[in-house]
Amino acid sequence: MTNLEFRHTEAARLSPEEREALLVDPGFGNHFTDHMVSIVWTKDQGWHDAEVIPYGPIPMDPASSVLHYGQEIFEGLKAYRRPDGSIVTFRPEANAQRLNDSARRLALPEIPEELFVRAIHELVSIDADWVPTREDQSLYLRPFMIADESFLGVRSAERARFLVIASPAGPYFSGGVKPVSIWLSQDLARAGHGGTGAAKCGGNYAASLLPQQEAAENGCQQVLFTDTQTEDTIDELGGMNLFLVRTDGTLITPALNGNILSGITRRSLIELAKDRGLRVEERAVTVSEWREGVADGTISEAFACGTAAVITPIGSLKSSDFTIDFGDAAPGELTMSLREELTGIQFGLREDTHGWLDVIVPAKEA
Ligand SMILES: *Cc1c(COP(=O)(O)O)cnc(C)c1O
Repeated sequence: MTNLEFRHTEAARLSPEEREALLVDPGFGNHFTDHMVSIVWTKDQGWHDAEVIPYGPIPMDPASSVLHYGQEIFEGLKAYRRPDGSIVTFRPEANAQRLNDSARRLALPEIPEELFVRAIHELVSIDADWVPTREDQSLYLRPFMIADESFLGVRSAERARFLVIASPAGPYFSGGVKPVSIWLSQDLARAGHGGTGAAKCGGNYAASLLPQQEAAENGCQQVLFTDTQTEDTIDELGGMNLFLVRTDGTLITPALNGNILSGITRRSLIELAKDRGLRVEERAVTVSEWREGVADGTISEAFACGTAAVITPIGSLKSSDFTIDFGDAAPGELTMSLREELTGIQFGLREDTHGWLDVIVPAKEA
């Protein structure tokens, strides 16, 4: 299994000129590289047929289980180009472990961690020219797994496919980091006790889209979900974890309670904050505590975090009943300094003291 051979089809889809044109302003999730990875799993054979093939449509039987019962999980990580020309990814083994946690919950097969990491290496190596050289740009990698057995019976599928696709990504905030406003979803939830909230699966996102629309209708960019029972205990945003910052520098973030996703950005920021000697409290956090803390001046900043945007400062939290507003248009100081530190490590501008980076393409000899 570990020595599974990848078959390669090298031909590039786009010419170098077409690629360079797309890399000027790629946006997010719009364009895809020349290749993708595909590995098939069957109950009888395990993982086999590992391939690097031209990016394009995949064969899909209309009876494929994923289309009916939603057996799908995914990951998100980025490849960064450092000033010396080398290409790295950030903690890919953490993504592999989390994919397997999600796989267990969705009754999909686990994939060996080293096969996951090799798949990332295969794709980034062959599509290395797609890793942007412009400031703040990166190559977003989307590993995912679908159940593709043709069978309408309700049970876990006996055939699955693991794929990795890649998409060049521009800076998340064009024109500088700006605080966003968050809508508190009161009637609609993305996850509940015993559900799939801690798994990174498409179903959770499907459940978050209507509340996300409600947020947009109320002038907000993101949604905040609370525990469905208390409607006060904070879980997370649709696709990002949340932190509050106290005036004394303490960071507060909801504990991993089974409803929320264990973000790798969240975990990394906790370690960076602890390195600085800051206190980090992982525990139940409520909207009431946030409101009162802002009112009495003990909570000074709030931010959301995830791979795509790294850190997004939060300017206000709105609901149909109230608004919590930091009253200041500028992002918080600690928020921005943690953002700078983490992106500095990822882009090779700061020392990687934790050994988080995985070098895929080494620096070219001068
Ligand atoms: C992916 C994701 C996050 C962020 O995780 P990172 O590993 O930091 O990118 C947070 N919440 C949800 C629901 C997610 O799907």
